[in-house]
Amino acid sequence: MSEAENSGQSSQRMIANPVPWPDGAKCACCVTFDMDADSLIHLDHPEDGHTRVSAISMLQYGPDVAVPRIVETYRRLGIRQTFFVPAWCIERYPGAIELMLKGGHEVAHHGYLHENPRRQSREQQAFWLDRAIDVIKRTTGAAPRGWRAPLYNFSDQSLDLLIDRGFLYDASLMGDDVPYLITSEAGRLIELPSHWGLDDWPQYVHAMDLDYMMPVRAPSVGLQIFTEEFEAAYRYGGLWVPVLHPFATGRLSRWAIMSEFLESVLGRGDVWFAPMEEIAAHINSVIASGSYTPRTVATPQYSGPVQVNSPFNS
Ligand SMILES: [Zn+2]
Repeated sequence: MSEAENSGQSSQRMIANPVPWPDGAKCACCVTFDMDADSLIHLDHPEDGHTRVSAISMLQYGPDVAVPRIVETYRRLGIRQTFFVPAWCIERYPGAIELMLKGGHEVAHHGYLHENPRRQSREQQAFWLDRAIDVIKRTTGAAPRGWRAPLYNFSDQSLDLLIDRGFLYDASLMGDDVPYLITSEAGRLIELPSHWGLDDWPQYVHAMDLDYMMPVRAPSVGLQIFTEEFEAAYRYGGLWVPVLHPFATGRLSRWAIMSEFLESVLGRGDVWFAPMEEIAAHINSVIASGSYTPRTVATPQYSGPVQVNSPFNS
């Protein structure tokens, strides 16, 4: 009986297929920030987005104020993490990107202008995917290894397009507590899942210009959902991937308490924080060594709209 089981803490097995994390870590963590900046405004309001000065300022708080703060916290804590950045934002906010790269963080693919792949043809999806890959290559010196679909809009073409371009992982799906594989005839991708409970928009974003209005939580209340999610991952061996946004969680009061929380969990000494690409590489290596077999989800699951027979649609 392991020490954890003996303590009674993990006596209940909640994850059917827990991952052997490096150095016996209890869970794997990556605080991912999606630095969308004002791409959202120009995408949602192509006619007059440029006139929405207050909304733009709210979103530019991300690259201008929050990213330097976040990167400094990571430096102090000695961790490297992942930023998903639309390529338009990479071109528009080079200073923020430079800070990420200087800190050794991963800059991963998050569309070009945060466009919605599910509303595009396969050809359009390929075009924007490639255009953003070129920007990332030029900026970081290497092709991106990971992708998160803008607004989780992973399309039924996304998997094959990503596999064709040599991506290692995706971070858009919500199908498990631990990494799993998504496969098609084209090959396979490692999925590093998260979910809406780990996204900061429902906690903190209230923006009429983005047609997204939620009751803004106090920082301590907003933080609580992330800490409870962490404790479950820690207790049962999961993957903790908050989906945060610099303009939201990077605000002073929220990041002040989130950074305190990160410091406290790092102090436990048995938690693995790494960029997403390193977590995906770890999954590849435990598969290769035969010490782990992830769950696999084969796609496509549906060839068209799902219809069930009834007297009304015969
Ligand atoms: Zn985004």
